[in-house]
Amino acid sequence: MSLKQYINGKWVGAISGNTRSIMNPFNQEVIAIVPEGDESDAKAAIAAARAAFDKGEWSSAPATERGVIVRKIAELIERDQEKLARLESLNTGKTVEESRGDMADIAGVFRYYAELADKDGGEMIHSPVPNSISKVVREPVGVCGQITPWNYPLLQASWKLAPALVTGNTLIMKPSEITPLTTIKVFELMEEAGVPTGVANLVLGSGHTVGAELSRNMDVDLLSFTGGIVTGKKIMQAASSNVKKLALELGGKNPNIIFADADFETAVDQALNGVFFHAGQICSAGTRLIIEESIHDEFIHALVERVKKFKLGSGFDEDTQMGPLISAEQLAKVEKYVETGIKEGATLAVGGSRPADPELQNGFFFLPTIFTDCTTDMTIVQEEAFGPVITVEKFLTEEEAVKLANDSIYGLAGGVWTNDIVKAERCVAKLRMGTVWINDFNLYFPHAPWGGFKQSGIGRELGKIGLEEYTETKHIFQNLKPKPINWF
Ligand code: NAD
Repeated sequence: MSLKQYINGKWVGAISGNTRSIMNPFNQEVIAIVPEGDESDAKAAIAAARAAFDKGEWSSAPATERGVIVRKIAELIERDQEKLARLESLNTGKTVEESRGDMADIAGVFRYYAELADKDGGEMIHSPVPNSISKVVREPVGVCGQITPWNYPLLQASWKLAPALVTGNTLIMKPSEITPLTTIKVFELMEEAGVPTGVANLVLGSGHTVGAELSRNMDVDLLSFTGGIVTGKKIMQAASSNVKKLALELGGKNPNIIFADADFETAVDQALNGVFFHAGQICSAGTRLIIEESIHDEFIHALVERVKKFKLGSGFDEDTQMGPLISAEQLAKVEKYVETGIKEGATLAVGGSRPADPELQNGFFFLPTIFTDCTTDMTIVQEEAFGPVITVEKFLTEEEAVKLANDSIYGLAGGVWTNDIVKAERCVAKLRMGTVWINDFNLYFPHAPWGGFKQSGIGRELGKIGLEEYTETKHIFQNLKPKPINWF
């Protein structure tokens, strides 16, 4: 498979002629060769997006027309759902079943924003000035840089592409350099759906070249980034060049509080789902389990028994429950965190190493791992391992549970399990996170906003607010009876 970048309506290689091999994390086989763009490619794409925006055809097209095109993209994704799902699994290692779910969600995101395309008619506001009209309208921000991570490559892309397009922006997307395949395919579908030349551009390449150029370039008006906190901070600095609007979806170290009165079986099951889905490579994974002391031992026993039966393997095998990590680098990172956890005194309840199964040796597999006896000062409790690792802390009182949950630089998401709804509401009111689930975990849908408190980011994606991120607010004041003021 040989693929290209999409700049100014043309499928092109990198200006330098460089390429990159894309690997299957299950067996390290090369599955595609893609162009390795750099700053020059990014500049060419930014120039195309700038010209398309300044020409104004897309931004001034009736919003209904933009909605029709975005709806068409949703339909094409549905048409190609199985192909896209298999490609996502080939590139990320996740099970095809998970990828099928992702593709349905992705089509849903395009559909949701297509529906909203022409619903905002602006707002008349009361003017205190006699004989005047005062109204507020929202306009596209302009040229948007969009940078996505490798864990949910196309899902994260859809959260950015759909709202940017319906609001009349032009854009340059840079997917993660290790998982660009489904994003390339969706740009093909966007072309087929009729997105005009120069409106949507795709540049492939690494973060420190293409990503850095998008972040600092004076012609980019908004930078929307999903990825790690270290990169997010670099992007904030670079974006100060022209005071770009910034949307940052960063990491999470998400607490999952289990009270003794919760439905035990469901809480156990969902605590597992909350972390081990996609081998723990989820920004909102409930990696910090905070369990009421009276049920702690029983709960851990139940988790460990279930974890021991997990089936690791190829995402293409029907019975696989957990695939590999994305890369050798990610595997090394998780191994290092586990080593640190042991050194810092946590107790390894299960996992903690690569699997022994000879069939898994070419893939970046790591066993599902649970640490007990954890305390908030431990590195594994504070930092995002971004792998299949749970830390467990105990609590005696509700106050203690909330305190432990909030003891983090992150504030992306969290969960509370209890059958006492009043207690749940009390806890939720005190939890400093962008999403809190009561008796559920990791559920999201396009209608509800997504994003973090504290260092989990700036701004929100999804929901109506996700649309607002891509607009500027303009107040228009019209004097119906202008006359001289005669001050000077
Ligand atoms: P990463 O920060 O390493 O990379 C993300 C993207 O940024 C990639 O496309 C990369 O090429 C690019 N990049 C790297 N350096 C750059 C630079 N200097 N300037 C501009 N761009 C640069 O993150 P990752 O490892 O790909 O993804 C995992 C991280 O993403 C985790 O921390 C996870 O929590 C986070 N994440 C957050 C959400 C959310 O919704 N909050 C969703 C998914 C992932």
